[in-house]
Amino acid sequence: MIEKYKKVLTYVVYTLIVVGIFTLLAWLGRFDSFRNFMEKIELSSFDLRQSIVSKYKKPNKDIVIIAIDDATYEYIMDKYGSWPISRGIWADTINFVELAKPKNIIFDLLFIKSNLNDIKADSAFVKAVKDNDNIYLSMNFDNYNDKIRRSPVFNDKLKLKIKEGNISDNPYISYINARAVMPELSEVTDNIGSINVTRDSDGIIRNITPIFRYKRDYYPNLSLKVAMDLFNVDNVSIVDNSIVLDSKHIIPLDFTKRAILNWYGGAHTYEHIPLWEIIEAKKDNNINYIQKFKDKIIYVGTTATSLSDIKSVPVEYNLAGVELHTTFLNNIIDNNFIKKLPMKYDFLISIFLSIFVGYFVLKITSVMKTILFLSCVLVMYGVVSLLAMYYCNLWIAIVLPYVSTITIFVLTYCEKYLLKSKDYEQTYKLAVTDGLTQLYNHRYFQEQMISNINTYERYGINFSLILIDIDFFKKFNDTYGHQSGDCVLKQVANILKKNSRTSDIACRYGGEEMAIILTNTNKDEAIITANKVCNTVRDNKFILANGEKVNVTISVGVATVGLDGKKPQEIIEYADKCLYFAKEHGRNQVVSNV
Ligand code: GH3
Ligand code: MG
Ligand code: MG
Repeated sequence: MIEKYKKVLTYVVYTLIVVGIFTLLAWLGRFDSFRNFMEKIELSSFDLRQSIVSKYKKPNKDIVIIAIDDATYEYIMDKYGSWPISRGIWADTINFVELAKPKNIIFDLLFIKSNLNDIKADSAFVKAVKDNDNIYLSMNFDNYNDKIRRSPVFNDKLKLKIKEGNISDNPYISYINARAVMPELSEVTDNIGSINVTRDSDGIIRNITPIFRYKRDYYPNLSLKVAMDLFNVDNVSIVDNSIVLDSKHIIPLDFTKRAILNWYGGAHTYEHIPLWEIIEAKKDNNINYIQKFKDKIIYVGTTATSLSDIKSVPVEYNLAGVELHTTFLNNIIDNNFIKKLPMKYDFLISIFLSIFVGYFVLKITSVMKTILFLSCVLVMYGVVSLLAMYYCNLWIAIVLPYVSTITIFVLTYCEKYLLKSKDYEQTYKLAVTDGLTQLYNHRYFQEQMISNINTYERYGINFSLILIDIDFFKKFNDTYGHQSGDCVLKQVANILKKNSRTSDIACRYGGEEMAIILTNTNKDEAIITANKVCNTVRDNKFILANGEKVNVTISVGVATVGLDGKKPQEIIEYADKCLYFAKEHGRNQVVSNV
């Protein structure tokens, strides 16, 4: 019954711990600082997983980057004296590379205003764009006031057609101003998309905005625009918080309406071809050199550190912005975006994992095994989350499950330890107590005799022993029955307890014999206590099982350490001798000297 009760108690406390922790976590979740702290670690764990997973992902080999890298920048400064370069060079580059028939040339560069000092070059560039319908240009949204820059009105052809659904407003997608391409360019091409990027609170870019909202209309991200043309899609649908291009190409959005990028590696995942090489090849009319661009999707962008288009992403702290756009396009082509598991599932996983670990903590007895078990569960969960990211592109939370599981592990362990120590207390008490009288038992009496002798020998603190035997108890049993005898034993024991100090040790010596070890007590004081006990018993009316009241007497022997003996046995023998003397001389009395 007691065991069953203990088990129920264990599980009741355990349930309270689980409920308590999750209530606490839900409550703490209302505080920004706590949420931000948890989010920061979760984001770091995401970055770690991305760093591992990205090593095993294969990027699209058809995507290459024409890089304005550090070497090109030096080349440009040397040859032309300033950056940006004349658009005539871009016109030449386009016309030269187009000879190899690339799929697209996508500029992650802004061509905002015409250069009045270089009108001819601008016209050449506009012509190159006009002549080739596979050229893509960038624009940028921002929130500048109309007083700073008149917000442009865009041609309808630039707008993104959404066949079904819509995207709700939020700061990541809605802007009030834009830096458009120069009007001469927008007259000759509709291949224009936005290159805005947004950072998380820690400065790292993990998401990209595929669709922008500006003046009540929608506009595509540059890479989304390219992808739509690659798949011959002229409008998109927004279904179940995803942008659907076609049945094979779907961009899942998070609650901020952005897509979470899935990385294929860090910087230089895609082949970088320095612009200066192309300019040189063009000078030499080296057609062979540009053959590598055949059927390629070419992004043109700055990668030089001095041109400050460097971003931090999960897999790389120094990544050229253009590589973000190539990754986005690659994700669309592969249908390979990260999907974040909704919060409620993170909570469910955490609850399940915590309950699972807590339950086994209660079951497993060995400390080592328990710790090993927890470690295995945490490592396995980490591996599962990694595999989920690799195989299913799924971002499962790690921090919440880990925090809740470890907290519940610690608390359940404390619970178990406390209940165990209560068990030990109980067992110890049972081991030293006499069941009938609730006095200390004989074994404890012997231990205490030795311990008190030791204290006496070391510190000279004396003690006395009172030995008690009920008079004519055999006869009492015969007269009133054994049960009444037990009743009397219990009541005598109570008188002993009441008449001794907390430091005294009242024991059942055996049968109907009892003893009190009086610590730090000399003979005279012991005699007083002995008489008090003897008189109380004599004057007491003992109530029997049938309600009858009877008188009982005891005989008492007293011995004191040092005076009557120096070893436990000597002292007990002396007290016994006194007791015998008391019996011999009429009982119901205290004898301390023989
Ligand atoms: P005396 O005055 O000389 O002590 O006479 P006595 O009859 O008490 O003699 P003794 O102390 O030798 O007898 C012990 C008796 O105590 C024997 C037994 O019947 C009784 N007794 C011992 N343990 C118990 C017990 O646990 N319960 C009951 N009811 N009786 C006990
Ligand atoms: Mg006896
Ligand atoms: Mg007796």
